[in-house]
Amino acid sequence: MSEQTKLQFAETGSAVKSGVKRIAIFGSTGSIGTQALDVIAAHPELFSVEVLTAHHNEELLIRQALKFMPNMVVIGDEKKYLKVKEALSPTPIKVFCGEKALEEVASMDCYDLMLAAIVGYAGLKPTVKAISNGKIVALANKETLVVAGDIVMKKAVEKRVPIIPVDSEHSAIFQCLIGETRNPIEKVILTASGGPFLGRKPNFLVNVKREHALQHPNWNMGAKITIDSATLMNKGLEMIEAKWLFNLKPEQIQVVIHPQSIIHSMVQFEDGSIKAQLGLPDMKLPIQYAISFPKRIRNEFPRYDFKKVHTLNFEEPDLKTFRNLALASEALQKGGNLPCIMNAANEIAVFAFLKNRIGFLEMTDVIEKTMQKVSFIAKPTLEEYFESDGEARTYAADLIQL
Ligand code: NDP
Ligand code: MG
Repeated sequence: MSEQTKLQFAETGSAVKSGVKRIAIFGSTGSIGTQALDVIAAHPELFSVEVLTAHHNEELLIRQALKFMPNMVVIGDEKKYLKVKEALSPTPIKVFCGEKALEEVASMDCYDLMLAAIVGYAGLKPTVKAISNGKIVALANKETLVVAGDIVMKKAVEKRVPIIPVDSEHSAIFQCLIGETRNPIEKVILTASGGPFLGRKPNFLVNVKREHALQHPNWNMGAKITIDSATLMNKGLEMIEAKWLFNLKPEQIQVVIHPQSIIHSMVQFEDGSIKAQLGLPDMKLPIQYAISFPKRIRNEFPRYDFKKVHTLNFEEPDLKTFRNLALASEALQKGGNLPCIMNAANEIAVFAFLKNRIGFLEMTDVIEKTMQKVSFIAKPTLEEYFESDGEARTYAADLIQL
């Protein structure tokens, strides 16, 4: 089992010895961020909010700050700084703005655990700072590991920082690994709902509009991950996330479509035994588990009832139709900066699709062409990852004429 897994199970419990865990939520105005605040609000005896950050949504950030009274807030969009500053001026809350401030605040000492809930590549740098700063990271921002997983995980081991997964599949795997640190994993089985277009073929997908793609059958999430779920890129990103989190080889990661989203993922051990983690599709549970680990906290979330959902189905993903998953498998196999390139092109493609600039299937073309074009680097430095990201974004944006 990986050094990181040992670290997760060995140290997290003792990292915050007693009392209240001080939480920094990076991306507090998003789907994960707001659900995390609901969890925290229900347990003031266990958690305090020290940092909140938003990008554009200053209104919600202000409301959250007035309710939770953090030590500091960051608004990414510098134009919104004065409004936030003024609204919080009757309070002692410190207000910062801009991209650099995210990194500076992540480097401060006022918190114990960062919930990394910014969406996309923008989450990478603050998360790296939190790790360098020796803080526990509860990781929702999967793109951090897709872009630079080798460097991030190496730094985490060097700084003895446990990375606790928030993503429901990885939380499931993590929970299956409890008590198994000496037992090698044969493989992990990542479940995927299949998204709103399960069973559909390209002749249908070619006409899909943003409104259709934003309707996920099981989960209510931010726009980017909802589109990623519809294209199955989300599962591709999660394969790469699993590789780094659990130190797996590509052939140890299998994807299975499970439309009910009750089994959140599974681990198969070397004796053939498979452990699974089950529950209703509700992100509050993995969020709560990640910030309260190793404790399980009593809650009133709805329970899965075997009497109501009798059937759990499983099928193979359709890689010919959902080509993003095939591209992500290729990136997973080849490694180097290819996942970083793929991720950047995907972010540009999803953005363009959400703006009605390209069609559903064109997203895959943009990603594929960008992966073919940007130079491959087998062992990139962090700086080279940043450069590959920039190069891929420029190339993808040119393709779409953004
Ligand atoms: P949302 O889009 O709902 O929220 C994103 C958050 O990040 C918001 O607070 C947003 O601020 C902030 N943000 C956006 N862009 C930037 C930027 N450039 N710089 C700084 N902050 C920024 O996303 P989700 O909550 O859905 O997802 C967050 C992460 O968690 C993603 O990586 C996703 O893959 C992962 N995840 C999400 C799940 C879910 O159920 N939602 C499940 C599993 C993983 P503002 O609101 O001001 O724009
Ligand atoms: Mg997931």
